[in-house]
Amino acid sequence: MTGIVYKSTGSWYTVKSDTNEFFECRIKGKFRMKGIKSTNPVAVGDKVDFELDTTSDTVTGVITTIHDRKNYLIRKSVNLSKQVHIIAANIDLLFILVTIDNPVTTTSFIDRLLVTAEAYDIEAVLIFNKVDTFSEETLNEQLYLQYIYDKIGYKCMRVSAVEGKGLEALKELMKDKVSMFTGHSGVGKSTLVNALEVGLNLKTKEISEQHQQGQHTTTFAEMYDLSFNAKIIDTPGIRGFGIVDMEPQEVGDYFPEFFKLKDQCKFNNCLHREEPHCAVKDALENDEIFWSRYKSYTQILDGDEETYRTDAYGN
Ligand code: GDP
Ligand code: ZN
Repeated sequence: MTGIVYKSTGSWYTVKSDTNEFFECRIKGKFRMKGIKSTNPVAVGDKVDFELDTTSDTVTGVITTIHDRKNYLIRKSVNLSKQVHIIAANIDLLFILVTIDNPVTTTSFIDRLLVTAEAYDIEAVLIFNKVDTFSEETLNEQLYLQYIYDKIGYKCMRVSAVEGKGLEALKELMKDKVSMFTGHSGVGKSTLVNALEVGLNLKTKEISEQHQQGQHTTTFAEMYDLSFNAKIIDTPGIRGFGIVDMEPQEVGDYFPEFFKLKDQCKFNNCLHREEPHCAVKDALENDEIFWSRYKSYTQILDGDEETYRTDAYGN
């Protein structure tokens, strides 16, 4: 039988079969995934083949094959070995929730998430939430951010989770896809998911509490079916994902507007900083690349904290 992993608790995996039944499954033998060493061989979102074991009273399954992944998100494992933990696999859309104030979402925070999404080959979409609270000033800031990301090619949506504005377009986009939501605490992830599907409560809130308890608690992702034929992967670990061991040389490849120009730089290993005849720096001078994006780029290269946001005038 074939199915999708909806939940994992370490040794047991809840698999929903193509025939829409749930089975508790275990893994048979060892799985080696190409290129990565992970603490968990099977992750939520994985497509698997499994066989039923009907010898005992309760029918359980044995996972025999993991299908190739379209993509996956990882975070470094808390143990000291160099293994990673696969947070989720086969993610169609990563929604980044952004608020202009209360809380402030910085462009560097957005850009780090976008770089991560690019690195893992996951389509990212920006959702500007709390449009009902916008003053003229915050509206201008929001529209400017939307202008930036639109121009680079990222889809942007505007919603009010509390007033239910913009939800139809969002539902339309989520249809037949597997989505994940991320963003600062307080941007409205729980409220939004609850507005999409009444009664569905995200666990994302628990993260900060778990961090305070120390790093020993392992948290697991879970997939949910929504009534409009969409799937959500909820993961308390989502905040923990980030730029895992990226070579400086790679970072520019995950800024699509830089990547496009890369071949025009004089040096093929150009970091777009002090090098002469750099197409990215030229584009920056000509206002074809946004300063906030370039700033985020250098911050990532330098390992700086994320504290910067461009204002409505691009400063
Ligand atoms: P989370 O931490 O990202 O899950 O954020 P919550 O869903 O808990 O929302 C944080 C606060 O923002 C709550 O007080 C919500 O009522 C409020 N909130 C969420 N969405 C909106 C919105 O669209 N408009 C307004 N005015 N408040 C919102
Ligand atoms: Zn360059």
